[in-house]
Amino acid sequence: MSEFADKLSLTLQTLRRIEAEFSPAVFASSLAAEDMVLTDLILKNQLNIEIFSLQTGRLHAETLGMIDQVKTHYGKQISLFLPEENAVNDYVTQYGLNAFYDSVDLRKECCRIRKVEPLNRALAGKAAWITGQRKAQAATRTELAIQEDDVAHGMQKFNPLADWSEDDVWHYIRSNEVPYNPLHDKGYPSIGCEPCTRAIQAGEDVRAGRWWWENPESKECGLHVVDGKLIRIRAASAAAE
Ligand code: SF4
Repeated sequence: MSEFADKLSLTLQTLRRIEAEFSPAVFASSLAAEDMVLTDLILKNQLNIEIFSLQTGRLHAETLGMIDQVKTHYGKQISLFLPEENAVNDYVTQYGLNAFYDSVDLRKECCRIRKVEPLNRALAGKAAWITGQRKAQAATRTELAIQEDDVAHGMQKFNPLADWSEDDVWHYIRSNEVPYNPLHDKGYPSIGCEPCTRAIQAGEDVRAGRWWWENPESKECGLHVVDGKLIRIRAASAAAE
């Protein structure tokens, strides 16, 4: 069996184990390439794992279009979690629509309102959650495990693609004709909210287009806390986010 076939087999085994041993489990999809691989595996194998996405209110039209693509391709509606309307209104009224450019604190507060709080709601009452994170996406993810103890959320966190390469991801997508976000073909290897993501140039780090105006040390959205530590997302290094 090829190395890729081994990885694929292990990934499917992991998803089946999550379904069997960690119900109810949920998959947090950012609708990016890695997440479409997991979506394809979950839906084609009819696994009892809910798929949800954080609809921050600031996503690209192309990313939003993936929700319809999933429905058309698989006949399945992804659950959407939106921010609290009052919290968004208060933030915009007090600081402005795009205040996240003004300071790291205001950027983190926007991420807290639009991502962290809805994620916490999506995970409430669940036994485990799944992400599409990979080790090779970032220097800070080299220790990423397939299964982690997410103390902050009080549950297990699974990263079934931890050992996949970018080539593995695209090999799976092409081989299985998986729909994917067209922004990936326009210089966006990593996709977040529209105002906080830009295309990158050849040779730039795959995360260089995320919060590009900030010091790399401050690049975190607060979604990934494992073993009590916030997993930082740096420009010098890569799902949900
Ligand atoms: S990525 Fe940008 S727009 Fe999206 S929640 Fe964070 S600061 Fe707000």
